[in-house]
Amino acid sequence: MAASVEARKAGASVLLLDEQDAVGGQIYRNVERASSSMRDVLGHEYRYGGGLAKTFAASGASYGKRSTVIDISRDGWVGYEHEGNVSYVKAGHIIIATGAAERPFPIPGWTLPGTMTVGAAQTMLKSSAAVPSPRAVLAGTGPLLYLFAAQVLRAGRKLGAIVDTSPRIPRLSAMRQLPGALRAPRYLMKGFGLLSAIRKANVPHYWGAIDLRIDGLDKTESISFSVGGRQHRIETDLVLLHQGVIPNIQITQALRCDHRWDELQMCWAPKLDIWGRTSLERIFVAGDGAGIGGALAAEYRGRIAALGVLADTGKLAKDEASRIAGRMRQALNKELAIRPFLDQLYQPPPSPSGPKDQSTIICRCEEVTVGQIGEAVAIGCAGPNQLKAFLRAGMGPCQGRMCGLSVSQTISEMRDVPVTEVGIYRLRPPFKPVSLLTLSKMSIPDRQKQERRQ
Ligand SMILES: Cc1cc2nc3c(=O)[nH]c(=O)nc-3n(C[C@H](O)[C@H](O)[C@H](O)COP(=O)(O)OP(=O)(O)OC[C@H]3O[C@@H](n4cnc5c(N)ncnc54)[C@H](O)[C@@H]3O)c2cc1C
Repeated sequence: MAASVEARKAGASVLLLDEQDAVGGQIYRNVERASSSMRDVLGHEYRYGGGLAKTFAASGASYGKRSTVIDISRDGWVGYEHEGNVSYVKAGHIIIATGAAERPFPIPGWTLPGTMTVGAAQTMLKSSAAVPSPRAVLAGTGPLLYLFAAQVLRAGRKLGAIVDTSPRIPRLSAMRQLPGALRAPRYLMKGFGLLSAIRKANVPHYWGAIDLRIDGLDKTESISFSVGGRQHRIETDLVLLHQGVIPNIQITQALRCDHRWDELQMCWAPKLDIWGRTSLERIFVAGDGAGIGGALAAEYRGRIAALGVLADTGKLAKDEASRIAGRMRQALNKELAIRPFLDQLYQPPPSPSGPKDQSTIICRCEEVTVGQIGEAVAIGCAGPNQLKAFLRAGMGPCQGRMCGLSVSQTISEMRDVPVTEVGIYRLRPPFKPVSLLTLSKMSIPDRQKQERRQ
């Protein structure tokens, strides 16, 4: 939305394609329609999104809702599915702003009905005012986990427990980042506020939990974990897992843009120049897809990317674009000052395979387990792309969005080599599942066909 508004200010023609049926993305989901009481539950940051949505609506940008981008070519053809039909548009420049996805959390039992992610539960809260059952256990770590806990409590609902995988006393590595974080005191205060709301509500809070597992015959019945050598088991029919978010890089991967491994955020991110330009000249990335920075950082990155496009196309003089972008970058850096602290404070375990349970599913679409990946690695499978041929991992409906990172990290751990040596899935369109009927009606523009053949 921010990129569209900025581009429209200089008169650029803008089409925003979004698979949702209303603007707002993750953080401001359903913001135009949420009731006043729901806005109270979700907090003042959520309310702020209402203003952004209004500015976007007045910007004159074309808005394609329920339009899922399934294909982008390196020369600017964008294919999107809308109500069962695929259309292609040719763009001069493309800004990919597909946001973040939750970091996969593969532990024994995580695919049982009754276990889902905190993000999914929050999506239900925002879109349908659905509040989890009072026996729900939140497990894992990261700001979104505490934010959601506080939102549920604000909605007047209790929680069964919080099973925190981060230590009660912050690690030294996190404390070292505290001076930088003090440049963004607002976020520190927000964090204290969330934790104190949880404490006041007397939610049982276990810190430093390891070896999490979910048990149940055909649905979630309990979560077990150990803290300081002591074993715990909580009976519950709903476990909500979360261990941070990572950039959604599916499209930049499919475009074969250059990527880098971010050691601190433990994820892949596209390599970008100061405007957000990828290794492809006319393709930019903005928002959390460029690296996790939060909603305001996403907005600044959107505006900077738009300014880059405006400078490229001559809609704005380069000097003027640089001047405005300079101001934005200062604000962006201020927003990002808290990140190293948060990234260290809520660092997930280095390996997703967690407890050495060979039956833990890593790729849930194809039901590929840790043990099966181990067998493939033992007979020479070197990386995720080879694993597709061995086990079809990453070839199910999610197209590797859920398991990509865990597969790379698991193979890296098993081979005892850095994850950068193991690499990531090479993805291909369609980026999201498309029905056969839709495919049968689809025609790909000629120039793009040529590019695909090359
Ligand atoms: C589940 C979840 C919940 C979160 N909740 C919060 C929160 O409550 N508070 C907070 O501060 N931060 C939250 N975050 C972090 C947060 O997402 C951001 O900091 C912020 O929303 C980033 O903005 P963005 O514009 O980069 O991405 P987003 O807001 O995620 O917007 C990306 C948009 O791209 C669309 N999209 C993705 N792929 C396609 C495609 N192929 N075709 C068409 N459209 C596509 C998505 O539907 C979405 O509307 C959450 C993250 C996740 C993963």
